[in-house]
Amino acid sequence: MQNIAVIGAGTMGNGIAHVFAQSGFMVNLIDISKASLDRGIATITKNLDRMVAKEKIKEPAKSETLARIKTFTSLEDGTKGADLVVEAATENLDLKLDIFRQLDAACDTDTILATNTSSISITQIAAVTKRPEKVIGMHFMNPVPIMQLVEIIRGYSTTDETTDTIMSLSEKLGKTPTEVNDYPGFVANRILMPMINEAIETLYNNVAGVNEIDTVMKLGMAHPMGPLQLADFIGLDVCLSILNVMYHGFKNPKYAPCPLLVNMVMAGKLGVKSGEGFYDYSESRKAEKVSVQFS
Ligand code: NAD
Repeated sequence: MQNIAVIGAGTMGNGIAHVFAQSGFMVNLIDISKASLDRGIATITKNLDRMVAKEKIKEPAKSETLARIKTFTSLEDGTKGADLVVEAATENLDLKLDIFRQLDAACDTDTILATNTSSISITQIAAVTKRPEKVIGMHFMNPVPIMQLVEIIRGYSTTDETTDTIMSLSEKLGKTPTEVNDYPGFVANRILMPMINEAIETLYNNVAGVNEIDTVMKLGMAHPMGPLQLADFIGLDVCLSILNVMYHGFKNPKYAPCPLLVNMVMAGKLGVKSGEGFYDYSESRKAEKVSVQFS
């Protein structure tokens, strides 16, 4: 396995392209938006610069990594010759089903199709292809170059062969893969998102402010960052989509997204990527608490 296509150059896609290229794989990074591709390459370059400055890699490794990444706006062109496709486009069921139909038509029959979805059913995505046994969840964590875990999700039809290939590939990236089964939210988000949602509900109920809630969880529970700041980093739209998948998938009101989260997403306050969420990232990118509209 040598040629990897990554679909989506956003928060996750550029990180996934980065780790594959840094591990010696040839990467085609594909996005419908040229601006997103440019931003993705700029982010990879900045992250590699930081690694050089911290002496984690040498300067030639940076230019070699960048030279292994090509960008494409066409899915057909970008997936030519791919041994593996990792889809990391926007968290939306219809969009992902459409992309997988296109991938199934465009890619060689033995190409493995992986998705980085946070919560959407691998089985449902696989069912729109003629190769459900070669469709798998490869759920990287944010930020991808730093986080150790890859949650590997077996769909109903995913074979042992496909799973073993993706488990050992993840190890080649220096990651620790962990195999789980295909139910809404898998393991990571089934546990994380109710905590984030409860933190937003706590703010919504005016029990405490943004800084206070995050401080309690950081200093009291030894979390590296508070749940509201983490939600900003993940993207509030992504958090909302994941909660909705679990809410509808389990038909259980305990996963119902807090109305404040719904309002913030409708207002375009998506966290770091939009410049404002629970904190303000617009100036000097230093997180400052912003006042949140409760009603
Ligand atoms: P994002 O909004 O930062 O980026 C999504 C990118 O997909 C955008 O650049 C957009 O232009 C592109 N895109 C949309 N439609 C496309 C198409 N048809 N073809 C190609 N590109 C297309 O989103 P993200 O946070 O990077 O999330 C991507 C995936 O990763 C989602 O499934 C999400 O659930 C998952 N994920 C996110 C996180 C996180 O912390 N943000 C963590 C793990 C997994």
